[in-house]
Amino acid sequence: MATTEIKASSSPAALSWARVCKECGQQHEGQDTHLYEYQDEVDDELVCHICLQPLIRPMDTPCGHTYCFHCLSNFLKEKDFCPVDRLRLQLHQCRPSSLLVRNLLDKLNVMCPHYAECQQQMQRCELQPHLHNRCPVFRRLREEAEKRKRPSWHELKGRKNDGESSGDDKHSAALSRNPSRDPSEPGLINPAYEEMDDDNTPQRSSLVAEANVVELFREEPEEDLGLRIVGGRDTPLGNIVIQEIIRDSITSRDGRLAPGDHILEVNDVSLASVPHARAITVLQQPALLRLTVMQEKGFKIRDQRSDQQPSTSTAPQ
Ligand SMILES: [Zn+2]
Ligand SMILES: [Zn+2]
Ligand SMILES: [Zn+2]
Ligand SMILES: [Zn+2]
Repeated sequence: MATTEIKASSSPAALSWARVCKECGQQHEGQDTHLYEYQDEVDDELVCHICLQPLIRPMDTPCGHTYCFHCLSNFLKEKDFCPVDRLRLQLHQCRPSSLLVRNLLDKLNVMCPHYAECQQQMQRCELQPHLHNRCPVFRRLREEAEKRKRPSWHELKGRKNDGESSGDDKHSAALSRNPSRDPSEPGLINPAYEEMDDDNTPQRSSLVAEANVVELFREEPEEDLGLRIVGGRDTPLGNIVIQEIIRDSITSRDGRLAPGDHILEVNDVSLASVPHARAITVLQQPALLRLTVMQEKGFKIRDQRSDQQPSTSTAPQ
């Protein structure tokens, strides 16, 4: 009866969808910095003087030093000076580093954190799309979690395949629009797209919803994000959903968010069951906002920039 192609090996007890970071794929405390398996030695210039790791979301200080946004904002909660030269410093005086520096960091080679089963190596900026769209381990964790409890996203959106009732592929039905209902084509029923090496494989574009992290940065603390939301625990909608994006705003210039996207988290604060007014307050935090959003992808891959690598089944030796 069970015709699922999920790998037989059970996941290590420690690894669970709820605890794994949706950005770096490792298990770490929400307030801790992301963990990456760097494959090459990294130039000292690209290392944060607080965490001694390659910079993540680098911020330049007016005194000419660069730190991870996360490290610096934590440090400045208690202190009011630069950790290297002890010159007076506040977070709002800092700016994201140049595109050149951010690109150098994005291009650092990392290994998939689930390398016991997935030996993929890629640029650091490609790890998150890999995890959410191609990593077999990440997909298995998500599917296991969905079998236990169907997330509210699916309850809200409902089944896409109304005629689907065979039972064997129930766990995958919520995530894939089956291009064919013919059960003699298991490759189309199960989203096991790691078996395919063709970039145009229908499974890659059949994902209905996908979790992504989008960062928005206010140049001025008062600047309007240009984001109108609806929903909240005290409304019939429940979840926080983007209703409208104002033209010529931070959000519209960024271009990655769209009306209908569900905001799941902001800077590691869950918006899962907060009242509407609380969500507004969270989104009004100054400086950098890191939004985890559930985005409907339909049949087309919308974000070509972050998802242009062909899917492949060949693991490097
Ligand atoms: Zn992480
Ligand atoms: Zn750091
Ligand atoms: Zn300094
Ligand atoms: Zn992987």
